[in-house]
Amino acid sequence: MRIFDPHIHMTSRTTDDYEAMYAAGVRAVVEPSFWLGQPRTSPASFRDYFDALLGWEPFRAAQYGIAHHCTIALNPKEANDPRCVPILDELPRYLVKDNVVAVGEIGYDSMTPAEDTALAAQLQLAAEHGLPALVHTPHRDKLAGLRRTLDAVRESALPPERVLVDHLNETTVKEAKDSGCWLGFSVYPDTKMDEERMVAILRAYGTEQVLVNSAADWGRSDPLKTRKVGDLMLAEGFDEDAVDRVLWRNPVAFYGLSGRLNLDVTGTEATHEGNSILRGAPKDPHEPDPGPGDGDEPARVPVAEV
Ligand SMILES: [Zn+2]
Repeated sequence: MRIFDPHIHMTSRTTDDYEAMYAAGVRAVVEPSFWLGQPRTSPASFRDYFDALLGWEPFRAAQYGIAHHCTIALNPKEANDPRCVPILDELPRYLVKDNVVAVGEIGYDSMTPAEDTALAAQLQLAAEHGLPALVHTPHRDKLAGLRRTLDAVRESALPPERVLVDHLNETTVKEAKDSGCWLGFSVYPDTKMDEERMVAILRAYGTEQVLVNSAADWGRSDPLKTRKVGDLMLAEGFDEDAVDRVLWRNPVAFYGLSGRLNLDVTGTEATHEGNSILRGAPKDPHEPDPGPGDGDEPARVPVAEV
């Protein structure tokens, strides 16, 4: 099973997660820029974060055989913070970078006028840069949030077939599908969508333009949820082609709209700007094994096979 997780915050995850994801079939991810769980206090904090999404994180992913792209934006929550809003003026210089495959995540959190302004401005930036947009829908008051989101898309220069509306559920899927936008579902442990509900939605609405993601981040989440959905689809009678469509071909098609998707895992050099993911010096294969117990051996890094 080949898997493309179209929404996952790897910056918050460990190398164990990368290893487990590769073993589960994950070969590509998109990491949307979002908030850190605590407020940023200046645009400089965004710049360092965006640079990490463009440099260090793709390097780290490549060490585990996974292609990494990102989406860049001022996230909905921080669109309300006047300390953060000036980063909007700096987005154009990030949106021209090769590894940026969409503007996102944008959208509504609390549906404030400041969020209206940031959403409209960033849909416009997507249109101007020839990029699709990843639009987060609010976790509270979902249907009202979706309707306001679709209104904003309709009023923008970006056609719905270049927009992915994410975090959908049973309440919002029908109107989202009718809009012509791509449909994103985040499958979490305990809350929101789970695998069973996801498979029921796929049965009811089909696999066309549907993307499934783990949205794994610094909160309680599971980077293997994509695989678990694929396994349940097979167990419930979907064929391998349907699984491949949802977990691979649909995300490739959506982010491919950017013209920038490169699924060859490059950058498997041992270091990025002089820094490696290893702790301590790499083991010399010619040196006799000192035996167990010194506790200072570096992590063993799998060689990329893709
Ligand atoms: Zn997210």
